[in-house]
Amino acid sequence: MTTVADKPAESHVFEADVARLLHMMVHSVYSDKNVFLRELISNAADACEKLRYEAISNSNLNAGDAESRITILLDEETRRVTVEDNGIGMSREEMIEALGTIARSGTRAFMERIEASKQGEGAQLIGQFGVGFYSSFMVADRVDVLSRRAGSEEAWLWSSDGKGSYKISQIDPIQAPPRGTRIVLHLTEDAKSHASRWTVERIVKEQSGHVPVPIFIVEKPGAEVARLTDGTALWTKSRNDIKPEEYTDFYRSVSGQYDEPAMTVHFRAEGRHEYTALTFVPGSKPFDLYDPDRNGRVKLYVKRVFITDSAELLPRYLRFIRGIVDTSDLPLNISREMLQESPLLASIRKGVTNRLLKDIEKLAESDLSAYEKIWDNFGAVIKEGIHEDFERRTQLLALSRFRTTSSGEGHRSLADYIKDAKEGQKSIYYLVGSSLEQLKASPQLEGFRARGIEVLLLTDSVDSFWVTMAPEFEGKGFKSITQGASDLSELPKAEGENSKPAEASEDIASFLSFAKERLSDQVSDVRSSDRLTESAVCLVASEQGYDRQLEKILQDAGRLNSAAKPILEINPDHPTVKAIATTKDDTFREDATLLLLDEARVLDGDKPSDPRAFAERLSRLFARAMH
Ligand code: ADP
Ligand code: MG
Repeated sequence: MTTVADKPAESHVFEADVARLLHMMVHSVYSDKNVFLRELISNAADACEKLRYEAISNSNLNAGDAESRITILLDEETRRVTVEDNGIGMSREEMIEALGTIARSGTRAFMERIEASKQGEGAQLIGQFGVGFYSSFMVADRVDVLSRRAGSEEAWLWSSDGKGSYKISQIDPIQAPPRGTRIVLHLTEDAKSHASRWTVERIVKEQSGHVPVPIFIVEKPGAEVARLTDGTALWTKSRNDIKPEEYTDFYRSVSGQYDEPAMTVHFRAEGRHEYTALTFVPGSKPFDLYDPDRNGRVKLYVKRVFITDSAELLPRYLRFIRGIVDTSDLPLNISREMLQESPLLASIRKGVTNRLLKDIEKLAESDLSAYEKIWDNFGAVIKEGIHEDFERRTQLLALSRFRTTSSGEGHRSLADYIKDAKEGQKSIYYLVGSSLEQLKASPQLEGFRARGIEVLLLTDSVDSFWVTMAPEFEGKGFKSITQGASDLSELPKAEGENSKPAEASEDIASFLSFAKERLSDQVSDVRSSDRLTESAVCLVASEQGYDRQLEKILQDAGRLNSAAKPILEINPDHPTVKAIATTKDDTFREDATLLLLDEARVLDGDKPSDPRAFAERLSRLFARAMH
């Protein structure tokens, strides 16, 4: 290739992440090398869609050649595959930016997971994730990208062997496509079958049959141009004419994931506003699911022209949904700013959300295990809706599934909970924490277990928030078992157990007031507990204010300066407590009281407040026991 005015090509080094990704891919964490074609075709189609959009306000950009197309040229003799589009093209800066760095959100997190995982799991992970332009290097030892941006007189060549650096140089525009991008793969010996028409045609039809830009093939230099796909948008067809594989294929190209959709929702809304939606619940978690910006990815089309994927077509708690909405009720030249104000958009958001939730509800009724898979992947995100979407709160609560003290490995719904609630039980009880193991070991659960009362075990960070916002479900409020009085004494224990707490003896009463006095700088109260059966102590939050777990989250997030003092509850029937209450040894009593408080802290997953003093007290206790 000759460069313009004999300027030498500039060499650039890839951003570190790209080198790592390339290495991983070339060393084949992922075995299906065919995906490179899908990735190149999907980029070419994106480029055509971007041009169509820009040409709405500047018709010069596609003047003379307005029909988008993608052409694949093969040459078995020289082992070359070329994918060419007449889309938007790339300027020099865009090439450096787009092909020398990894911009895609979630990529970094993805790579960290892959590196941390074993090879086998890595393969699965890559399978869930679009690998992008760099997948070319799975089959090629050199890739040349020749591009000319729409409306520009300049053409540029980007070239790399995928080993850490690339060269970029200006070329004579004659050598580049008149508009758009030509990507030339110099195939490795191993991958030479990818230059055969039979292989390529099969892969394209299988993977990219519904890309909304037509694809052509030229099987060898000088051969005729043949059409492979017609570029009809899948969503414009009627549901009955679409095969499940076609939906999957479209899902993969629109989501950039390689898994199977867990649910497909395709419908046409008619009436005041007309639009078509083709949306999917992914089969696995997208990598940007927990990105702080919480952006959705559903694409908006107007009359089959792609407009934007940042129109917030769905509420944020449905950001995992992938797909498109196409409407003919908006002007093509609507600005992205004006879009946000449009009443049509509000109507689409409402209509699509309602439909999705309704179909998800139906699935929960007709195929529970399929629904539970969706819930396992996205439940933590859907629950954000309980405190964000007031109108649909009850509906979202009804969809929610929980681990509880009686769920085992399964899931329980709130309807299940209410059905099995004990006579006289006024609240839905819950316990919030960071892990199921920790929660199951909580002393606060003991009194509930003894009475056979189910407790929701909540471990998602969003749980601390929605429980405070969801006032009730079917007439029962939500109540933390680590907050306030437990009102357990009103409910009978299982048969054979004493349900009334023992009359507090005088010794216990005076011990409680001693402890309250001695611990007053650390706890707001010390009282006798009805929620403990085996443990000696536990901490609870006072009735007013935050649950202890929420308080911790807020403190960690810097949104709360000081935590409120908790309440120490003591089990008056516990032998340790009885021993302390009746002792005449003042040092022992004081040490043991402070140790009880630290014990309660440890049971909560915290540390003793003063580790050194804690250790000293413990040694004194040992010394006493050994005498
Ligand atoms: P993604 O498509 O997810 O953005 P890729 O690695 O597939 O990631 O592509 C990186 C970027 O390179 C694209 O976002 C685009 O800006 C640019 N690009 C790739 N192929 C083309 C093309 N044929 N025409 C124009 N730009 C392209
Ligand atoms: Mg891409």
